[in-house]
Amino acid sequence: MNGAGGFIGGHLVKRLKAEGCWVRVVDLKRHDFAEPPADEFILGDLREPDVVRNAVSGIDEVYQLAADMGGAGYIFTGEHDAAVMHNSATINLNTVEFGARAGVRKFFYSSSACMYPEYNQLDPDNPKCSEDSAYPAAPDSEYGWEKLFSERLYLAYMRNRGIQVRIARFHNIFGPEGTWRGGREKAPAAMCRKVAETPDGGEIEIWGDGKQTRSFLYIDECIEAVRRLVDSDFTGPVNIGSEEMVTIDRLAQMVMEIAGKKLAIRHIPGPLGVRGRNSDNRLIREKLGWAPSRPLREGLEKTYAWIARQVGLS
Ligand code: NAD
Repeated sequence: MNGAGGFIGGHLVKRLKAEGCWVRVVDLKRHDFAEPPADEFILGDLREPDVVRNAVSGIDEVYQLAADMGGAGYIFTGEHDAAVMHNSATINLNTVEFGARAGVRKFFYSSSACMYPEYNQLDPDNPKCSEDSAYPAAPDSEYGWEKLFSERLYLAYMRNRGIQVRIARFHNIFGPEGTWRGGREKAPAAMCRKVAETPDGGEIEIWGDGKQTRSFLYIDECIEAVRRLVDSDFTGPVNIGSEEMVTIDRLAQMVMEIAGKKLAIRHIPGPLGVRGRNSDNRLIREKLGWAPSRPLREGLEKTYAWIARQVGLS
């Protein structure tokens, strides 16, 4: 598994081990919070061909989760565009080429809802993210363009090199043991941190007017959907996300309710991304019979409890 020192990869290793798989993981770094129970850990850079050759040797299925990524504060400022495109594309080019050569049978690739065209996500109440709305392509970030390129890369290898491929487009996955500070954290984690750090009656800052919409999927639901996709005969690309769309202000209110705090919200300029986004789960329901089983609020409760503990420890 590539990227198992990260958030989703760390959780996926636990699941694969619980299912009895033998798991080799590769990452630039050790996991920040909970070392995944892998059978072998390669500390290495997947931009390096030799590291990848080593990583795929003798492997049957590759889960490719490594990417140069972060939340809006990383992806949408423009400062990391060259790194994001070069690093993530190189990881994918190496993984699929050396994996195919080594006889890897199946590749799971983690794409992102960020590949959907911006023009379908201008109305916060009616964003369109059905899988067939990807083209004409017009993602609003280089991160999204790289995801689109790499989706096509894996599909091309499937056609020409006889490998099996499964592609998921993740929509905002959140939960414990994910990045919660430092500039790469995403909205739910940032919100939980701000609320946990601010005394009752204080004030938190939110980027934008707070009326932008998103949906958020709890990590356990994501892992279940990934495993179902990989074990199915459906290639995708398919959305893995939640259809419970909320404004960012509502997300903040929910976290405050969970924390039992009343805080004022100050809206400030910041990197935002599209105006509205929601998962469209029609295809995954039809193909895999999957939908999230629990409401956003429950996942937020678990995530808030974990982040509040981290804040207390730091
Ligand atoms: P993450 O940043 O926590 O994990 C990614 C891991 O990749 C990190 O541990 C990082 O060290 C590793 N990595 C980066 N460059 C590497 C390199 N050159 N060599 C080896 N390892 C390298 O991210 P995550 O949230 O766990 O996301 C996993 C995947 O899912 C990513 O591909 C991401 O783009 C995709 N995705 C995530 C979300 C989300 O909401 N979390 C949404 C859409 C797509």
